[in-house]
Amino acid sequence: MEIHVLGAYRTESSSTHLVSLLVDGRLALDAGSLTAGLSFTQQQGIDAILLSHHHFDHFRDIVTLGLSRARLRSTPLYATQTTLDALAYFFDGGRYYPDFFHWPEDLPVYEPYTVQPGVPLEVEGYRVEAHPVPHTVAAVGYQVTSPEGRRVFYSGDTGAGLAVCWPHVSPHLIITEVSGPERWRERLGPSGHLTPGMLKEELSQFRHLKGYLPPVVVVHINPTAREETAREVEAVSREVGTAITLGTEGMRLEV
Ligand SMILES: [Zn+2]
Ligand SMILES: [Zn+2]
Repeated sequence: MEIHVLGAYRTESSSTHLVSLLVDGRLALDAGSLTAGLSFTQQQGIDAILLSHHHFDHFRDIVTLGLSRARLRSTPLYATQTTLDALAYFFDGGRYYPDFFHWPEDLPVYEPYTVQPGVPLEVEGYRVEAHPVPHTVAAVGYQVTSPEGRRVFYSGDTGAGLAVCWPHVSPHLIITEVSGPERWRERLGPSGHLTPGMLKEELSQFRHLKGYLPPVVVVHINPTAREETAREVEAVSREVGTAITLGTEGMRLEV
């Protein structure tokens, strides 16, 4: 299984894209940079999209991708009912832009599927399980298992308490968030995000419970504090005894 990091940041610029991951060129995890991070040809390769939650930085390119896929085929869009409801609210029956759940009438761009936490799904040959994570709105992380049995866990946005997922997953790679350095903890903690120190706690619990700790890739980084975050993450990596790498646009991970 190959994972292509399309966007690894929480704010966008010409060199930093919003969070999106693409599994084997086909399965998208979050939609922060599905158009900004892919050519038109690559965009057409997407067979299904999974959304972690309804914050704008995670679904933004559902809108921009919608127009480039119109009249080609209908794309399955998986999310919790809360997230699908928020998207339908955003589309507002086509008031500001096409309502991609209903337009074009004969072949709507997206076909919504409700994800139930804890209930495994088969998505384009991959086994997908959603697990609730602590955030300021309803949010899930996904464990995706390839047809060959390789597993990745992507947390989406999460705050302290991510460890509630650990009993249910056994990934070969964890992709999670660290939104900023330790000195921002008082601000990031209450807004449902992790600092390097908080990540250390969650990973220590993983090792304690599972008896191993896979490599970790960190995304949703604040670009203005990237270097500081990188130094702190490096220290955590040494302390917990596994490789923790900061994600970056164009990175390809073999799982
Ligand atoms: Zn969020
Ligand atoms: Zn976010």
